Amino acid sequence: MDRIDLKKLDPDFKHRLARELGGEHIKKCFSCGVCSARCPVEKIEPEYNPRKIIRMILLGMEEALLKEEFLWHCSTCYTCQESCPQKVNFTEVIFALRNLAVRKGLAPPGMGAARNLLSQQGRMYEVGDFENEKRQELGLPKIMGNPEEYKKLLG
Ligand code: SF4
Ligand code: SF4
Repeated sequence: MDRIDLKKLDPDFKHRLARELGGEHIKKCFSCGVCSARCPVEKIEPEYNPRKIIRMILLGMEEALLKEEFLWHCSTCYTCQESCPQKVNFTEVIFALRNLAVRKGLAPPGMGAARNLLSQQGRMYEVGDFENEKRQELGLPKIMGNPEEYKKLLG
């Protein structure tokens, strides 16, 4: 990580995040590191570190954190959430951070494409004739797109 620019710290960030869905318990973290020790992504991706993310939140490093690509590396396995002695609900914190990043236009470009696919098809990839033929071979019903229903569900 680059040197911390004190002028860019926002002490209100943790309070704002605590008002977001999923971020409610962020201030209960006492930095024990259990989440980081148990996180499977941290084992293979040294840049990804739940405790570091929480320290960045508590320090007010909003801009630096929301534009970090590693925010999107969490597999949402909930191991950290189940292990946390303070019930910080870190997986939900990740969702809250991602929502903020999207609202501020700081999410990686590929996320916009994924969102468009979801709103148009209700899934991350298109199910076409090939997939439906395979489903038929397995005795499964055809999947039909219903874009209007997906749009209604996603608002
Ligand atoms: S396990 Fe919970 S209390 Fe410990 S560092 Fe992680 S979020 Fe904070
Ligand atoms: S939910 Fe994310 S941060 Fe938590 S243990 Fe799983 S991969 Fe790590």
